[in-house]
Amino acid sequence: MAKQTPVEVDLSYSSHSRLSEYERLVYPVVSRRSRGLSLGINLNPDKRCNFDCVYCQVDRTSTPERIRPSVSQIEQELEYWLQELEQGQYQGYQLQDIALAGDGEPTSEKQLPQVLELLMSLKQRHPVLEQIKLILFTNGSGIGRNDLADIFPRFFAARGEVWFKLDAWDQDSQDRINRSRLKFDQLIEKLRHFGQRYPVVLQSCFFRWQGQAYSDQLYQPYLELVAGLAVSQVCVDRIQAYTLARKPAESDATPWSNIEMDRLATLLREHLELPVELFYESGSESDG
Ligand code: SF4
Repeated sequence: MAKQTPVEVDLSYSSHSRLSEYERLVYPVVSRRSRGLSLGINLNPDKRCNFDCVYCQVDRTSTPERIRPSVSQIEQELEYWLQELEQGQYQGYQLQDIALAGDGEPTSEKQLPQVLELLMSLKQRHPVLEQIKLILFTNGSGIGRNDLADIFPRFFAARGEVWFKLDAWDQDSQDRINRSRLKFDQLIEKLRHFGQRYPVVLQSCFFRWQGQAYSDQLYQPYLELVAGLAVSQVCVDRIQAYTLARKPAESDATPWSNIEMDRLATLLREHLELPVELFYESGSESDG
């Protein structure tokens, strides 16, 4: 087991401490979207990402950590936390999942296949992990990597989920929101190709931009895009509609109010035959 100097861990999602400042790659957090305790793995402590989302809530004002991801370090740190969680709880919270997330895009990390293999093997060895989910967050850019193709069937069999970022509905909105070099059509093709084989959870961030007023009209193209995915046999398990909870990269991005998020959820539910999970600036719909 890894020897770790205990650090003060703030579990709140509004803080989202990655612990990379302590040269750690694994961090516990109480996650709104996981509905409990999540063990996050930060595969991108250097904070580099191939998207540059205007709402990104990774703090890039501080110097990037020099720590590099290493499978053996991740294993040691996970073993440490699994011992802490032997009774299934940490600070009173039940472990819900292990999530590959962090400060950048997990599918851009070349050791991702080895990390996924590690998680599946830990699940077999640790009873506390039997029922928990494995979650891969992605902006979709590297989801089609050849070296992941053989892994995904076993990953999904091990209660794996892929949470696929989808904030934009055309090239213009992607240029404005995600500021990625990846063309919108290519992104949607990746989503289609993957989603026709495996279920995806769509993670969509909705927010006010430059003070505009909320209108249902604003999100009509999003509705049409998601409806079109279903027509092309993409299996969407559910939509996670969320707004900003922490300071974004651009101050022009501000959260929709709870009332505006409620209107959005009504719109999504009326037009899409999909479960919608709603996350407000503070808390989620299911908290009430
Ligand atoms: S993909 Fe994620 S980490 Fe990358 S810029 Fe967007 S929100 Fe930030």
